[in-house]
Amino acid sequence: MKYCSECGSANLVLRSPGRDTHRRLVCNDCEKIFYHNPRVIAGCIVEDNGKYLMCKRAIKPRPGSWTLPAGFMECGETVEEAARREVWEETGAQVDIRAPYSIFSVPQIDEVYIMFRARLIEFSDDPGPETAEVAMLAPDEIPWENIFYPAIKDILQRYIEEKDRGVFGIYMGCSEDGTVHFMQ
Ligand SMILES: [Zn+2]
Repeated sequence: MKYCSECGSANLVLRSPGRDTHRRLVCNDCEKIFYHNPRVIAGCIVEDNGKYLMCKRAIKPRPGSWTLPAGFMECGETVEEAARREVWEETGAQVDIRAPYSIFSVPQIDEVYIMFRARLIEFSDDPGPETAEVAMLAPDEIPWENIFYPAIKDILQRYIEEKDRGVFGIYMGCSEDGTVHFMQ
């Protein structure tokens, strides 16, 4: 940003205003503080009779790789609404959200992924332009070597293992360090 969106001044500096713990872009003329915060990505693991809803990416990065439906939360919606909307936009499926499954932080790129467990209700529409192909895949049909992001592969593998054991946990952490929490 070159100019203050409040007063139009070009006198913008990086500093820690007041007792703030972080350096912010601040307008020296009107004292407007420009906050830059992480983005939330919401999505679902959608299971139906041992098959999992996956989509093949049509867009960069890595078109042709497979992933779980997820995308950026919008202002004015809850994180569950965001997850349901993203599933519908990317796959055309209506789903019923059951429970949180993973709260995964990526501080290197300022993103937080919140993934839910969900049940398929029905396919009510065609996928949007971000998706090349949609499929319900059994574990032995999942293209494990062509999954978009390692954390997506991990979350699917954990789900399949936990489903076999009949107990689902909730992951909290990042790729280097995290814990699966099981509630009593
Ligand atoms: Zn200003």
